[in-house]
Amino acid sequence: MNYEDYARRIRSYTGLAEVNEYGRVVEGGVEYPLFRLIVPGSRWLVITSGFHGEEPAGPLTLAEHFEEVAAYARERDVGLRVYPCINPSGFEDGTRYNRGGEKPNNDFMRYEVAPGVWKGELEPTDTSFLRWVLYDGGPKETRAVREDIARYPAPSAALDIHQDNYLPGAATYAYTFGDKGAYRPLMEAASAHASVIRNDKVDENHYTDADGLIEYHDGSVTDYFTRLGVPYAAALETTTRTPLEACHTINRLWVRGFIDLAARGSDS
Ligand SMILES: [Zn+2]
Repeated sequence: MNYEDYARRIRSYTGLAEVNEYGRVVEGGVEYPLFRLIVPGSRWLVITSGFHGEEPAGPLTLAEHFEEVAAYARERDVGLRVYPCINPSGFEDGTRYNRGGEKPNNDFMRYEVAPGVWKGELEPTDTSFLRWVLYDGGPKETRAVREDIARYPAPSAALDIHQDNYLPGAATYAYTFGDKGAYRPLMEAASAHASVIRNDKVDENHYTDADGLIEYHDGSVTDYFTRLGVPYAAALETTTRTPLEACHTINRLWVRGFIDLAARGSDS
């Protein structure tokens, strides 16, 4: 996937959004601009995508359907802050990590689970923790986006769009926090386009519930927003085996759903 073409597409949205670079990274001698698109509004939704380079659907949905997304948000007076492709060299190479082999995901925060004992994620056996902090290290892509995100007040909702490159078949599930009732209609709508992974394992340690939802404090941007008190925070997954058009449909319906949730706010 050519990032120059991708960047050109993103830059073409200057009439719909404030398009800025929040940083640049150099990977394998190539300099990549990192983009943030802002649509103003009174309540805010943050959308992130492309932490993992072999999960292209999210960055592509945001690039190809941005006009529709921006219009839907404006009609509801929801502001958007969109980070469409966080790991450009991975996106270009089709590799999970960046060209230097660093892992840009799940490095937003650290948990102190016992005095002086820090972990990047909480497993079910970690029933409590002493405190959490915003991490300050990690790959350059993570540092850049984390620094930018942390400059702003917490939004009303946050959606991180991923894919799953391990599970077979056309399928979907989501990591979510907060009121599951808010996400069930989205997963039901998605079920028309890919099978929802219900009551099944998605990896060695994590199982979905009957609605295809998982709670996991994994130190990701979604976990970070939850710790900040954002009431609606999710990481959406479609398998990479899911046809791209179905991924677009599922991603768009979750984006619209999260715009609605941001519009609703936490005072409903
Ligand atoms: Zn991912």
